[in-house]
Amino acid sequence: MTNEVLHAKLKENFGFEKFRPNQETIINTVLSGQDTLAIMPTGGGKSICFQLPALILPGITIVISPLIALMKDQVDSLKTNGISACYINSSQSAEEQQFYIDNLKSNNFKLVYIAPESLSYLDVIFNELTISLIAIDEAHCISSWGHDFRPAYTNLGYLKNRFPSTPILALTATADKATRSDITKQLNLKNPKTFVASFDRKNLSLEVRPALDRVKQIIDFIEKKPNESGIIYCLSRKTTEELAEKLSKNGIQAKAYHAGLDNETRAKTQDQFINDDCQVVCATIAFGMGIDKSNVRWVIHYNLPKNIEGYYQEIGRAGRDGLPAETIMFESYADVIQLQKFASEGLNSDVQLAKLDRMKQYADAVSCRRKILLSYFGELVTENCGNCDICKNPPTFFDGTILAQKALSAITRLQESEPLAVIVDFLRGSRNAYIYEKNYQTLKTYGIGADISWYDWNQYLIQLINLGYCEIAFHQHNKILLTSFAKKVLFEGEKVKLTTVVKKVIDKNEIKQEKAKAIKNSLFETLRKLRYEIAKEEEVPAYVIFSDAALRQMELLRPMNEDEFLAVEGVGKVKLEKYGSEFINAIIQFHRNKSVIKKEKKDSTYKKTLELFENGISVEEIAERRNISQTTVISHLAKLYVDGYNLDLSQFVSEEEIEKIRNAQLKLENPNALKPYFDYFEEKISYDKIRFGLAFIERKNQSQQV
Ligand code: ADP
Ligand code: ZN
Repeated sequence: MTNEVLHAKLKENFGFEKFRPNQETIINTVLSGQDTLAIMPTGGGKSICFQLPALILPGITIVISPLIALMKDQVDSLKTNGISACYINSSQSAEEQQFYIDNLKSNNFKLVYIAPESLSYLDVIFNELTISLIAIDEAHCISSWGHDFRPAYTNLGYLKNRFPSTPILALTATADKATRSDITKQLNLKNPKTFVASFDRKNLSLEVRPALDRVKQIIDFIEKKPNESGIIYCLSRKTTEELAEKLSKNGIQAKAYHAGLDNETRAKTQDQFINDDCQVVCATIAFGMGIDKSNVRWVIHYNLPKNIEGYYQEIGRAGRDGLPAETIMFESYADVIQLQKFASEGLNSDVQLAKLDRMKQYADAVSCRRKILLSYFGELVTENCGNCDICKNPPTFFDGTILAQKALSAITRLQESEPLAVIVDFLRGSRNAYIYEKNYQTLKTYGIGADISWYDWNQYLIQLINLGYCEIAFHQHNKILLTSFAKKVLFEGEKVKLTTVVKKVIDKNEIKQEKAKAIKNSLFETLRKLRYEIAKEEEVPAYVIFSDAALRQMELLRPMNEDEFLAVEGVGKVKLEKYGSEFINAIIQFHRNKSVIKKEKKDSTYKKTLELFENGISVEEIAERRNISQTTVISHLAKLYVDGYNLDLSQFVSEEEIEKIRNAQLKLENPNALKPYFDYFEEKISYDKIRFGLAFIERKNQSQQV
């Protein structure tokens, strides 16, 4: 199939202007009849890889997916694009399932989504169907090597034997090699072509913050984005509930989600989130697998994740529409300690601890975070990304040898028996009960670091731990021990480089401004509301109607007719027919209202100036009272005069001067600007006079024309 034909189909049916990386080659391979293994990150655009071929191929495309909750969503999405599709799974009654099976027989659907458990229903009618393609989504579920093994997937190998000449497309976001070859083997794929897309998701910003005042930081962050959906991942069920409650108390729509809640509550929360009726979900990692919401604008990790795979998958749920999305991870030592405990007590403890270590290294990085992430997935990147906190604010290093010596000798004096917080108190000379109880105030080095804040000491000690000079004994009350490297600093003159602690200062004013900006009457907000209403009527999630990216383009391009509307990313033929006129009308209406408001505002500021002037108040005084410049007052008066208000201009400009200005007007190359006059008169006639003179001439000309 030629490039043009595929592109035209992509636009017509899905509204997209161009393919994302690898989509086109995968589609061509599938269309050539070859088995294919496609590995793309979450949000990379896997669905198009089988949905587009499904439209081109003569028969039915079967899509096998473990995510029952997602099927309805995908089918709804296809339907809004005018593509006939259905799903069959255990959420339906037997009659419903039978209905779809009968309709499949009469070739009424191009795509059918089915859970592996339900395949047996289809099995009986296989001989009556023309099956053109079999897509296996989340294909890593077949492999016990992967992190998400599903027993129902293990039988899928029979499909190749049963349909030896039907191409199979296996899709997954799991990259590691062992899982990949296991998928090929178990699905009996015939010399599959394998495509691995880059795992880079450039639109996701990456940031790690120390976990101090987490809740407050989160509230400040969300307050700036009152209409943006986000997910906060927490380590424990209890935290999800506590956090949701705290956010709610601060006026933020937030709900908890974890495996301990009953099915009904969970389904409700998920629905509300998907339908933009609940802004924030505080969740354990149980949340997200079955969610395709493309307009999740941010993801926060309240706790350090267990490993980079999980972390990357979770942040990947933000910004699927390709628009900028933010991710923040909080790092606390308490979390590290707890996770180390879990990992060391669980199965495969060595591997788990090593993975946690990589996670920690990522959190403590002093160079581009994206490079570290991608190198974890085997991608080598040479350029810094420019979209992580380190790239935006590179750390500055200083000679921290003396600080390190103070800290390490404090640990020595305390006989390596105290946790981090006590060491900081000791260094700072705190007079708290614990210190006195232990008589620490009598030891040498007590109070030796009183000039450094608690927060900063905390950060410096963490840096020393990361550098390997000391460590946490997490099985012994988290006391801090020295490592063998410490003596190099204490006795052998080794230099230590530390990075300056930067504390995020939160500016309340900035939050207020951003909040106002977010909810102000923008075209985006108007379109968002319209989308929400239509979505409610059609009982589908809002992003199924149009993605945020499509709305942003409408805001930018302001399409006011059908051709212009069709040029918007995400608008295909059917969506143009269905929603075009409503959105176009909203845009035209918005435009109109805006110019009326602008004019009214303008009129009222002129009127205020006029009123004062008519009361005999001088230009200087008007400027002062109205807190505007004198030039503005004069331009108001000049304009009012042109518009027909009777003002006595003789106090500002003489008849003789007006005559000079009139003459100049005929000679100047650019008679519409003021500066040429000013230069022409060699600065002898002021700007104010020129302005009034021109106003006088303009009004005169107008009256002569009439
Ligand atoms: P994945 O299954 O890989 O996580 P999806 O197939 O759900 O990703 O696609 C993620 C988002 O990207 C969806 O909102 C989809 O509509 C959008 N998308 C897919 N392909 C394109 C494209 N070529 N241009 C623009 N948006 C696309
Ligand atoms: Zn970077």
